[in-house]
Amino acid sequence: MSEFSPSSAAPAPRHPSSRPELSIVVPVHNEADSLPLLVERLKQVLDGAVSSWELVCVDDGSRDGTLSVLKQLSANDGRISAISFSRNFGKEIAIAAGLDHAAGDAVVIMDADLQHPPETIPAFLQKWREGFLNVYGQRSDRDGESALKRNFARMFYRLFARFGETELPEGAGDFRLLDRKVVDALRALPERARFSKGLYAWVGFPGTGVTFDVAEREHGETKFRYRKLFSFAFDGLSSFSTVPLKIATWAGAVIALISTFTALYFVIRTMVFGTDLPGFPSLIVSIMFFSGIQLLSLGMIGEYVGRIFAEVKRRPLYLIGERVGFAARTVDHPRGDALPPLIR
Ligand code: UDP
Ligand code: MG
Repeated sequence: MSEFSPSSAAPAPRHPSSRPELSIVVPVHNEADSLPLLVERLKQVLDGAVSSWELVCVDDGSRDGTLSVLKQLSANDGRISAISFSRNFGKEIAIAAGLDHAAGDAVVIMDADLQHPPETIPAFLQKWREGFLNVYGQRSDRDGESALKRNFARMFYRLFARFGETELPEGAGDFRLLDRKVVDALRALPERARFSKGLYAWVGFPGTGVTFDVAEREHGETKFRYRKLFSFAFDGLSSFSTVPLKIATWAGAVIALISTFTALYFVIRTMVFGTDLPGFPSLIVSIMFFSGIQLLSLGMIGEYVGRIFAEVKRRPLYLIGERVGFAARTVDHPRGDALPPLIR
């Protein structure tokens, strides 16, 4: 059993003054150029909007000096802190680590590249103060993306709506505000294949959307190529649906039935008309067809077995190489500090 059952995952009591009203969690991968601008815009927006705030950046194995930029920013402003992974673990895991380290009564998750405009945060806060615990940003359009990417996204949402266990609000991504209750619920989820869009929806709590315009990326380029997006989509579907398993079963059953009838047909035909040598092509075709189906089903099962394997290994979700700006504070970070057994 995990030592982090939902009840024990509640954060340890913190020093009251160390608990800001709002935490901003930002996963960062090679964003050295974007960060100073992001911090500037956050300061402008947040200073009037909340009584106290902190910025927790998670450096997800950057190689472009992001960490030294973060150190500089943290030295200049005590509200900024960072953790740095030992390598690239991926955005989803960086978000999980950020949530582990955020102390605020509410947490806003956003990208570092300023595609998520900080100016939307007051609208999130407004909804939060109205009593919504899970406030998600909904992108008003996907104009900034290629048509191919847009279509894949639409297809994915349609598939997920049809087969997934939970409902994903249209156009809602990682840009969102979560109440402390939701954050603790998310932190209590032990899975390693983290499809956070699905997890946000799965935990429930009263939620609402706030639309925002996706800005152009200010610096650098997207870190998500098609291959990564595909594996991300498959992770999402397979963690929230067992339908692919069932498709394999059904396809297998239907094809077995068809092949039985085909066999019967051939037997009867041979009895009536005698043997004929032709038929060789149909043989080859059917062998190929069935091997294909078998491989497909095996592959499907393999995908799930692979995920089971990843879960039962119980590896830590992430490893921290360095922490910046936490020592000065009395914040207690139960999970990130334990190294090992950082179990979640
Ligand atoms: N990111 C990350 N780890 C990765 C890839 C991306 O932490 O392996 C961060 C990245 O720095 C950015 C956010 O995730 O803050 C979104 O990435 P990006 O802008 O490249 O994705 P897109 O906006 O194109 O979907
Ligand atoms: Mg981006």
